[in-house]
Amino acid sequence: MTTVPAPHRMPVLFLGHGSPMNAIEENAWSRAFRSIAPSLPRPKAILSISAHWYVSGTWLTADTHPDTIHDFGGFPEPLYQVRYPAPGSPALAERVIDLLGGDIAKISFDWGLDHGTWSVLLHLFPEADIPVVQLAIDCNLPPAGHLAIGRKLARLRDEGILVMGSGNITHNLHHALSSFQRGETATPEWAQGFDADVASALETHDTDFLVHALEGEIGRMNHPTPDHYLPLLYAAGAADGSDAVRFPATGFDLSSLSMRAVLFG
Ligand code: ZN
Repeated sequence: MTTVPAPHRMPVLFLGHGSPMNAIEENAWSRAFRSIAPSLPRPKAILSISAHWYVSGTWLTADTHPDTIHDFGGFPEPLYQVRYPAPGSPALAERVIDLLGGDIAKISFDWGLDHGTWSVLLHLFPEADIPVVQLAIDCNLPPAGHLAIGRKLARLRDEGILVMGSGNITHNLHHALSSFQRGETATPEWAQGFDADVASALETHDTDFLVHALEGEIGRMNHPTPDHYLPLLYAAGAADGSDAVRFPATGFDLSSLSMRAVLFG
């Protein structure tokens, strides 16, 4: 449980969620997630933008009791037993539709909480007593479109809502898994450099850099698909130049997977 009194404005969080196993393993990343919690005011509700709900359209979960979705295969059985029974918040879903416009954002009852959301929230808020809504990432939008949605979500910060992006700043899964199989842990320059450049852009609120970061060979090498990068644009959009920028977790898992977390405000 957090002890910090509620400020006028909620911070914005981006988490590198990495392997689903971080949900149940005691490791540097699960400890890092837990270490963030005491610096967060207790939100009224959480709006989570997870890399793992990357579909056509901007959807909002509106279930009063969202399912815990085990959207992965080949992991140990205990991971499939994990439940994160946080309530939903149809009211927050409707509020986001007000902010984004009903022609753009719509209610969905076809999703729940995927592991991009619950694998980190069960460390941050283990009581699962704060309502959670997921916002889908529209695969048809260009990066600037995701940033623009993030900007519209900034209003929620004044209403006690924690806007949380969950992805990874570098995410070449093929490289990460093949490195793991070969036992390689050294981080390649293309991942180190990209992570550092993005960190610098975050610190200087250089959203223009962030919007164009996936263009070019290095960008594509770090993100063969953009799904794990785009949650960062929602978080950066909901932040602004007056926010302090901190990195409560840094480093790489599986050789090339950046686990950098970003706290704005
Ligand atoms: Zn993921």
